[in-house]
Amino acid sequence: RRVHPPSSPGGGSIPGMADCLFCRIVAGEIPATIAHETPSALVFHDIAPKAPVHLLAIPKEHHEVAASVAGADPKLAGEVLAAATEAAAKAGLTGGYRLIANTGPDSGMEVAHFHVHVLGGRPLGPMLA
Ligand code: IMP
Repeated sequence: RRVHPPSSPGGGSIPGMADCLFCRIVAGEIPATIAHETPSALVFHDIAPKAPVHLLAIPKEHHEVAASVAGADPKLAGEVLAAATEAAAKAGLTGGYRLIANTGPDSGMEVAHFHVHVLGGRPLGPMLA
């Protein structure tokens, strides 16, 4: 199975996989600050943090959105969630934290590779303000 884009243009069989930013981070082609890694998941620091701790947990394998990974591989979806919580613990977020997975255009999703935001390090207030 491939976890990063093919080098030939248009060669990818999975929609959205070619030139996927997060696949390139998995492949080591784009630098990232890694917070936690498991065999199937990677957690790294968001480049534009919205809180003192802002991490992104992703499956190493390309899946576009939550429904894609939950449908194709629910075990992997659980492993990404577990990696997110493990990274939160490593980051010392004992006071709590927020997990967010934007999904599709209405959510404002910018990167079409399933990811769970881990936000914490300060009181976050109500989410639906
Ligand atoms: P989305 O809006 O839920 O798709 O979140 C995408 C996130 O990826 C945003 O919070 C961005 O700041 C973050 N991001 C974009 N490019 C990079 C990068 O190269 N490294 C780490 N995070 C990134």
